[in-house]
Amino acid sequence: MKFEQPKIPQATAKRLPLYYRYLENLNASGKQRVSSSELSEAVKVDSATIRRDFSYFGALGKKGYGYNVNYLLSFFRKTLDQDELTKVLLIGVGNLGTAFLNYNFAKNNNTKIVMAFDVDEDKVGQEMGGVKIYNLAELEEHLDPEVTVAILTVPAQSAQKIADRLVSVGISGILNFTPARLTVPENVRVHHIDLSVELQSLIYFLKHYPL
Ligand code: ATP
Repeated sequence: MKFEQPKIPQATAKRLPLYYRYLENLNASGKQRVSSSELSEAVKVDSATIRRDFSYFGALGKKGYGYNVNYLLSFFRKTLDQDELTKVLLIGVGNLGTAFLNYNFAKNNNTKIVMAFDVDEDKVGQEMGGVKIYNLAELEEHLDPEVTVAILTVPAQSAQKIADRLVSVGISGILNFTPARLTVPENVRVHHIDLSVELQSLIYFLKHYPL
């Protein structure tokens, strides 16, 4: 029977992996229930938001009992497709790309970088963190058809061209670590993470809005 995916607001969906990871740790330590205030403390999301988020999953915490960890975990597993491996490719094995290949989301068993591409002859043909690096010119030839998501860690000026190619080979999600703003068709989702902007924004907030 196919699992019916409830419609969850995007902001709630974004917090799911955070909840999931914490609940997995709780489960591993043998804990069977958790209160929204305990969760709130651990994941740094206010407890009213947690209660509202959880109400979308039909998980109604009981006063004095809290939430059943197992119930939440099995729900999240299905919602986040934790039972299914999502294969990811990476383009640009520079400093950041190398870090990702070595890290390879080892704590998540549902996402894995399975191939990498670069244009540097010295890198092509090598392996990094157990992942083979191919020549980007041969993207179509080597692409695993099960890969739907790409991580982009190339210089900004090459990003759009590469994104266009990714779209043309059927990639539907791009995690863009370059400062370039990408234009893609409506059916392709781009999440943009500019680490230096994030860092500067943190420093700005520390300076101007001290806690
Ligand atoms: P490094 O220290 O290896 O130069 P970096 O992160 O400082 O890494 P960048 O210039 O950002 O250097 O390049 C990141 C990676 O992207 C490098 O491995 C580079 O060979 C690769 N790269 C550059 N242009 C392209 C391109 N058009 N397509 C694919 N990979 C590219």
